[in-house]
Amino acid sequence: MYAYMSNRIVPEERARISIRTHAFNYGTCAFEGMKAFYLGKRSWNLYRVHDHANRLLETCKRIYIDPPVDHEQLVSIIERLVIKNGNPGDTYIRPMIYTSHEGLGLGRHSPAELAIYCMPVNKIKRREFTAMFSSTVRIPPKAVPSYGKITGMYINSYIAQRDVVERGGQIALLKDVNGYVTEAFGMNLCMIKKGRLVTSPVSVGVLDGITRRTLIELCRNDLGIKVEEKLYTPRSLYTADEVFLCGTGGGINSIVSVDGRRIGNGKGGKITKRLFEVYWKLIHAKNPRYDDWYHVISAK
Ligand code: PMP
Repeated sequence: MYAYMSNRIVPEERARISIRTHAFNYGTCAFEGMKAFYLGKRSWNLYRVHDHANRLLETCKRIYIDPPVDHEQLVSIIERLVIKNGNPGDTYIRPMIYTSHEGLGLGRHSPAELAIYCMPVNKIKRREFTAMFSSTVRIPPKAVPSYGKITGMYINSYIAQRDVVERGGQIALLKDVNGYVTEAFGMNLCMIKKGRLVTSPVSVGVLDGITRRTLIELCRNDLGIKVEEKLYTPRSLYTADEVFLCGTGGGINSIVSVDGRRIGNGKGGKITKRLFEVYWKLIHAKNPRYDDWYHVISAK
């Protein structure tokens, strides 16, 4: 595959950084995870690319990184890279803006560079997982801003997931310092309770996920499902009718038990399945009502 590094598209083997790179040492890299969904005939939908670009550039601002590109340049580089790779399938895209100074000096101002790699991925399908709360709590947003993705922040997710997997679980869920539910280690978490979609507010320190935003709008505007963004406890999650995860990587996946308590009939709920179908249409640019979220590109 081709990658983008040092202002040009290069074969991925040539996209390398020094072990002295500031971001490698200190986790000072804002990044995105987005997808080009394959539509056939050498065209792709760069789903909500402008929202991903905004989140990335805003995250840079929050962590004192000066992006080397503006919004239009970033989107155009992503378009060119996806077309150059020409993968006849869904493609995961990982843009990173990182502090590139080589050498010591943790708190110094560093120049920043943009690097992007792409990876062919399978089409999403709804899967079923068991989940457990980790003993590690989510880093509070007053410590590290959680609006966007920052590589250093993911030590938190890594510890939580290792902790749960070592104890035989599949997916780590994290509480905040006050015991409220936040999200899973790398996906937002939602529950269906009495016909409403309930999810933690971004202010509790969850990532402002683009799939989460999509589902909230779909529920409110198309499906007639009321949405509550509110604090809730693990106890409340145990008695949910449905629980699911959402994110760009996995799409929408059912959680069928939490800390050993079975959720619903233990097979994923009806509303989750419906949301998956509606989401699938959206990412493949099939619902004209959401044209604004589509960005279809084609290789000539
Ligand atoms: N939370 C975390 C911690 C994540 O890493 C991700 C994946 N990027 C998400 C939620 C889902 O976000 P999105 O829908 O924007 O992919």
